[in-house]
Amino acid sequence: MSESRNTVIVTGIPGVGKTTVINSAIELVKEKHGEDVLLLNFGSEMFEVASAQGTVKNRDELRKLPTATQREIQRNAGESIAQKAKSVRVIVDTHTLIQTDNGYLIGLPEWVVRAIQPKTVVLVEADPENIASRRSSDETRTRDVQIVDEVKTHQEMCRAAAVAVGTITGATVRIIKNREGKVEEAAEALASALME
Ligand code: ATP
Ligand code: AMP
Ligand code: MG
Repeated sequence: MSESRNTVIVTGIPGVGKTTVINSAIELVKEKHGEDVLLLNFGSEMFEVASAQGTVKNRDELRKLPTATQREIQRNAGESIAQKAKSVRVIVDTHTLIQTDNGYLIGLPEWVVRAIQPKTVVLVEADPENIASRRSSDETRTRDVQIVDEVKTHQEMCRAAAVAVGTITGATVRIIKNREGKVEEAAEALASALME
């Protein structure tokens, strides 16, 4: 019997454009194929848990919590996402590495991805200079400042982390470039990953 997987996990460093590209890809899939995609945002699931506990006021405070607390909230959110991911086509908007004061927290540890069983892990990438300017011009969020060299290292580490998810789950790993002013191009690539 052939297996059937329905979930694409979309990752990439903060401000690279994941949420923007995802929203555009979902519209494309609707327009071209008449199909709905269920969008699950890992940060929103975590924020729901943490704000109910009164530990954070906005989603950008999550990564400032003690790492043990983040892991606990992450486990709850992961279980909730795996439960909800029941549609034909699902996107999980998340991160493979979360920068904390105590190093990178693994966003997709083994116990989270085993439950989700993604068909593909997408890694959205962009030029470090563009990421820095996207972060500073987006006033809706409180993103951390990173120098260009740190952004480069973070992106390289994200490649390794995406491959680790593929190794555990058998998912394919697909890099999608989100070039400046070319959201549509990146969205087309993501739409094709969803329809595969
Ligand atoms: P986070 O991980 O923090 O949620 P994100 O990866 O989801 O970040 P977005 O919120 O989608 O990033 O995008 C960050 C900013 O970059 C937004 O202001 C968005 O409009 C802009 N942006 C996204 N893609 C592009 C692009 N291709 N060209 C120019 N600006 C872009
Ligand atoms: P986002 O809107 O994607 O930036 O998500 C908001 C915040 O949620 C991030 O800055 C992280 O602190 C947290 N978050 C998202 N996904 C994960 C994950 N898989 N593991 C741990 N924290 C996460
Ligand atoms: Mg986002």
